[in-house]
Amino acid sequence: MDRNSQRQAAFLRHFGRSVLIVEDSRMFSTALRFRLETELGVRVTHCGDMDSLRVVVEDSGEPFALAIVDLNLPGSPDCEALDYLVSRGIRPLVFTASFGQPMRESALAKGALDYVMKDSPSALQQVIVGVDRILASERTKVLLVSPEPGSMVLEEALLARQRFQLQKADGAERTLDLLDEARDIDIVLLDLDHPGCDGVLLLGEIRRHYSAMSVRIVGLSNRGQDMTGARFLKAGGDEFILKPFCDDDFTARILHLAALHKQFQALNLLASRDYLTDVYNRRYFFEAGQRIVSQAMRRGAKGSIAIVDIDHFKRLNDTYGHEVGDAVLKAVSKRLKARLGGNYLLARLGGEEFGVIFDGLGVADAMARCEMLREELAATPIEADGEPLTITVSMGVAAIEGDEVFDNYLNAADQFLYMAKHAGRNRVFSELSLQPALAG
Ligand code: GH3
Ligand code: MG
Ligand code: MG
Repeated sequence: MDRNSQRQAAFLRHFGRSVLIVEDSRMFSTALRFRLETELGVRVTHCGDMDSLRVVVEDSGEPFALAIVDLNLPGSPDCEALDYLVSRGIRPLVFTASFGQPMRESALAKGALDYVMKDSPSALQQVIVGVDRILASERTKVLLVSPEPGSMVLEEALLARQRFQLQKADGAERTLDLLDEARDIDIVLLDLDHPGCDGVLLLGEIRRHYSAMSVRIVGLSNRGQDMTGARFLKAGGDEFILKPFCDDDFTARILHLAALHKQFQALNLLASRDYLTDVYNRRYFFEAGQRIVSQAMRRGAKGSIAIVDIDHFKRLNDTYGHEVGDAVLKAVSKRLKARLGGNYLLARLGGEEFGVIFDGLGVADAMARCEMLREELAATPIEADGEPLTITVSMGVAAIEGDEVFDNYLNAADQFLYMAKHAGRNRVFSELSLQPALAG
């Protein structure tokens, strides 16, 4: 992974989120602001004393995702800034020079999420890593699998403190169902010590359906001497934690895994986008399309696939130039996305051709949706090159039914698209269009 894509991934994950620096040292606050903005893409607000902290929090209305707070501040001799932040629901990461064991305990008891010592040469780096992890944690869903009630109380409390999104499976049998229902669990925590539940077996079951790319699995056990940890990791587990653990150690490991997982997801998202139009690309359409189709088959649900192709696009390029062509592609994508993007998978398959998967819609319904889209596009000119251009599209729609390979559905939709073009363009074709013709 090169530095540039790492940076883009960090931007994608944290972009637009807001971080508050409460710090009276100009040197630290300037350096921190620069690194947070450039490396994590977050918005930074700074205040240097207790009074301005109050003003900023009360007046700005900014939803701060967290605050980096110095314990020694003008107007805050006794951790008042920390207390204030907690009372306002802003999560504090303590960044301080004075930190004995009692201070650490009391800061954590007050609700600080983490702490970094200023005197360490890697202090700034630690803050950046800490912020990255904290921002990732509240977007991370963790499933705790406890074979018997009460077996994961400590783990749950530690993770709740970091604001992970938690779900619990009471009993191992529920694990797969819950994973299927939620669809977006990031981390599963498995207790490996319960006689009624073979953790390694369960791990294998989960791995049959979910790769490490989609779900990370952590095993916990108090058996350090036998091969429990090694067996678990060899069977595809991502992390093994020996009990009893030190709380900070447990938290740090899960935070690290969560940040890694989120970074991976962001990179994946980056790789699945079309660079020009920012809708999904062809690679993702095939990958996700295959998955959607096989899930629909399992559920016995309906589905359709459509190919949308802009009419006479070459002529448009030849008349107005490639740049106008690009602007039209962007505008058409934007419209398609606004109408479909949230509910149905939309991708640019190449050139001026787009694919849509109508998960849950049979051909008749999908055709109706496509007809509306087609009419709307034709009726609303696109502003490009300073003049309104009327753009029309042709579409082919095919049913997803029977256990076909994904390519075949796409080929079928392509055949109908060809017919739509042949019949004069600016129209939608599917098997339903053939029936009147055959009947007549
Ligand atoms: P039809 O109505 O039959 O679909 O005709 P058409 O001209 O739209 O289709 P054809 O496949 O002959 O031409 C597609 C054109 O799209 C040719 C190619 O130069 C252009 N094209 C492909 N990718 C891009 C792009 O990224 N930007 C621009 N501006 N043009 C592109
Ligand atoms: Mg075309
Ligand atoms: Mg084409």
